[in-house]
This record gives sequence, structure tokens and C-alpha cells, in this order.
Amino acid sequence: MFDGGRTYGAVIIGAGVVGCAVARELSRYDIKTAVIEKEPDVGWGTSCRNSGVLHSGINYRPGTRRAALSVSGNAMMDAVCSDLGVSLRRTGKLTIALDENDLPGLEKQYEQGKANGVPGMELLDNEAMRRIQPGVEGILGLWTPTSAIISPYGLTIALAENARENGVDFYLSNEVTSIRKNSSGVFEIITRDGATNGQNTVKTIALVNSAGLYSDAMSRMLGVDEGVIYPCRGEYFILDRRLEGELRTLLYPVPGPNDPGLGIHLTLTVDGNILIGPSADYIPGDRREDYSTTAPVLYVLRREGQRLLPSLGASDYIRNFSGNRPKQTPPEIGGNADFTIEETRVSGFIRLQGIESPGLTSAPAIAAEVRGMVARHMELREKENFVPRRAGLNRRFADMPNGEKIELSRACPDYGEIICRCENVTKKEVRDAIENPLGARTLKGIKYRSRAMMGRCQSGFCLPRIMRMLREDYGYRGKYVPGLTERLDIPL
Ligand SMILES: Cc1cc2nc3c(=O)[nH]c(=O)nc-3n(C[C@H](O)[C@H](O)[C@H](O)COP(=O)(O)OP(=O)(O)OC[C@H]3O[C@@H](n4cnc5c(N)ncnc54)[C@H](O)[C@@H]3O)c2cc1C
Repeated sequence: MFDGGRTYGAVIIGAGVVGCAVARELSRYDIKTAVIEKEPDVGWGTSCRNSGVLHSGINYRPGTRRAALSVSGNAMMDAVCSDLGVSLRRTGKLTIALDENDLPGLEKQYEQGKANGVPGMELLDNEAMRRIQPGVEGILGLWTPTSAIISPYGLTIALAENARENGVDFYLSNEVTSIRKNSSGVFEIITRDGATNGQNTVKTIALVNSAGLYSDAMSRMLGVDEGVIYPCRGEYFILDRRLEGELRTLLYPVPGPNDPGLGIHLTLTVDGNILIGPSADYIPGDRREDYSTTAPVLYVLRREGQRLLPSLGASDYIRNFSGNRPKQTPPEIGGNADFTIEETRVSGFIRLQGIESPGLTSAPAIAAEVRGMVARHMELREKENFVPRRAGLNRRFADMPNGEKIELSRACPDYGEIICRCENVTKKEVRDAIENPLGARTLKGIKYRSRAMMGRCQSGFCLPRIMRMLREDYGYRGKYVPGLTERLDIPL
């Protein structure tokens, strides 16, 4: 059935956290799988632009996909993260009723949580809440101990790299421009190849549409017209690590019935920063990748941040960013529709549409469901040589005990040279990021893999050193152009 070339058992369009989770899941089986991604690396869509929270499942209507998959996805994450060396912290979360008006909403969250099987929930009065988060305001809180934080792009990269190590092909910088099903029932996908400016044709028996904000456009290419994506932007501030320790858990307000998001909240990141956000504002459908941040929204975020964490000073805000939710409900309706996860009337075409929050949490559970759908079209035999653990160190050098650091630096002197002073990233870690198994060659890819360029100085110290490494050790001849270089492949 397969010609050993560009014909696959399964092809996934979109290398976000969901597409990469599906790829890794299918890489356990003896079929050929490929991922097609328009960007030069994985995880550059919504998957690197969110709160990075593993939700417990209290926010979703019982009986929905979002409810079931967030609870099961959350429970699967410890094993996934341990295999892939991705940090996960079970911080827990407090959803807080600030006054009597919030109580019915909080009660609803509690009842939903019970119906969805969320483990360990507790209702806490203010005194009990303050034992978890000193100084917190509010009259009643819902404590969910399974809520957790994770690096969303770290997880996406780890899933993709492990899938690659298990034989999945990645076509990066390849934008799908048309799809048809030929008379033999095989999908033919045409891509625009950003590296060669040419075209590629990739064929497959099963096709998974995991294209996030463009999933409706992919479906339309095969005449599946149901469902339109309405982008809804969420803006954030990132706060300096100086404040690490001020926030011990995640603090969320009670969401209103038609809120398109979960309300502006304070969350920790696994790297010790605090995020304030996200806002929720619909933007026009033809600007779905417009990731601007806007002065009026940032003003509101500052005000909310000050209210929730009064010790915040002007110099604590280090940068801002935004992410766009792929909503299936238009602005006049608001709220949230359920995930669409189905095999369409075009046999073999699997549609993952409207995977907004909690898509990050649900990714491994969605992947297991997609595996079941693919299995209707071909036999999936488990590989004997599947390697669940990702190759490499899988821990940050900065987090190791001194004895281990000394040993590693003796064995490999590149561990003894710090390239990024803000984040304590060594030359060896930057080198590993450049030499990643996906062959992704961008500054942003180095940043997401190593954390170099992410600290307080925002690359002022380390960027010249990284550019020197690229020139001297890898033969890169390009010039750094701010805002442009990260969009280009770095030819090695
Ligand atoms: C503000 C915000 C906060 C959120 N917070 C959370 C949270 O705390 N917890 C949680 O669980 N979830 C959260 N989410 C939701 C979560 O981020 C998403 O559900 C998840 O990232 C979706 O992943 P994905 O793989 O479906 O989509 P994406 O990450 O968008 O991936 C889709 C990929 O398809 C590619 N693509 C598109 N068109 C083409 C084409 N023509 N050819 C090839 N490739 C193409 C894109 O480049 C992209 O890489 C949040 C979302 C937002 C916006």
C-alpha cells in the first residue's frame, strides 16, 4: 500500500500541541506518519501563546468533549511529562468568589467538577484560602489540586522530537494549499515549500486536520463546510522573576456565563515568571494570525494585576504577548462551543476543529481518540522498538546540583560556558537546541528549546554570542535583522 516515498498511512496538518501529540501517539505503531507545518518549526501557533495551565475540568459542561478530555488529559500528563523530560508543577488553583454575586457561579463550577469527576476539590473560606495564598481576598474559594502548570511550547517540542525519534517525518515550512481525494481513495496534499519556493505532494490514507486557526479552511478544501473559526484574542503581560514566590498557586475569578474565556487571572509559569491575562476580544476573521497587543487592553491588565498583586511595580512588567482562540461561536453568541473531533463524511478525513482551551490539557487524550479513528482505516500494530523517552539531558543545567554540574562540565567543556546570563543557559544547551532532531533552524527555535534570550535583558547579552556560535561553528553567513531573522531558516 505504501511506496516508501511521500505516501503515508497517516498525515497530520498542523504541528501544534495537538498535532504533535497525535504524531507521537501514532509513532507507537507500525505505520508511516508525517506532519505538515507551514511555519519553520513546531508550536508557533496557539500552542506557544496561552496560559500553560493544565485545567482540572471544573469549567466545562458535563457530557461535553471538553469536560471528559480535560479530566483524562490532565491525568495522563504526569506520565507524558516524565517520559519526555518536560517540567510539570501541580500548583493547584483557587477559583475565588470575591462577593455574594459570584457565589452562584462558583457553586456551578463545583457541581460541574463533581459531575466531571474532578479529583480532590474543596470549598474553602477566606482563612483556609489564605493558608494557601497569603493575603488573598474573597469570601469563598474552590480549590482544585490537580490544576498544574507546564511549558506549552516545551511540551509541543518534546512531543514532536520524540515522534521524530520514532520515525515520523516532519515537513516544516510547508503550507498546505490544496487537498483532493483521488479515485483510489488516497488524499493528495499539495504544499508550498517555503525553503525551496517549490511545491510538494504528500499522499496519505488517513488525514488529520489539526490546523488550529485555519482548520475551517483545510476542511473547506475537501468540501466539508461545517464550522467557521472566529478568532478571539487574549493578551498577556509577563512579569519579572523577581516576583517568584509572591504567587503560590493559580488565582482565577469566577467566569461569567457568556465569557469567551476564563476571566483575567494570575498564573505562574514553570520558569518562575507570572502571567497576567488573558483578555478576550474577537478580531476579524481575516486577521486570525494578528498577534498584536493593544494599549487599552494592556492598561486593563495592569490595573487588574495591581488589584490582585498590590506589590507590583512598573519595572516588573517585562513584556507582553497575545494568542488567538479558534472559537466556533461568533461574537454575538460568545461563550464556548464544544471541541469538534470527528471523522467527516469524507472517509478517512478526521477533523479537529475549535480546539480552544482546554486543548493543551486535553492533547494526549485527543491523540488517543484520533488513534482509534485512524485504526478504522488500517491495522495498527504496536512497534517493538518504540522509544517513549526523549533522547538528551531532559533537565536544565541550571537546576542541577553543583556536583553534577562540575562532572558534566569536566566531561563536556561547553557546559562550563554560560551563554545566557539571565537564564543561566550554557553553550552546550544552545548547541543541543541548534542541533535538534527536527532540523528546525531559527533563533526562536533556539530560544524555545534552551530559554536563552528569554530573560530580563531580552537577548541583549546572549544574542551576539549565539550569532557568533552560528557563524563560527555552523557556518551561518546571514546578518541579524530584528524581527525578521526569526522568521527565516538559518542555513547550516
Ligand atoms: C489566550 C489563550 C489561553 C489559553 N490557555 C490555555 C490553558 O491554560 N490551558 C489549556 O489547556 N489550553 C489553553 N488554551 C488553548 C490551547 O492553547 C489550544 O487549545 C492548543 O494550543 C491548540 O493546539 P492546536 O495544535 O490545536 O493548534 P495550534 O497550536 O494553533 O497549531 C495549529 C498549527 O497548524 C498550522 N497550520 C495552519 N494552517 C496550516 C496550513 N495551511 N498548512 C500547514 N500548517 C498549517 C499552524 O501554523 C499551527 O502551527 C489557550 C488558548 C489561548 C488562545
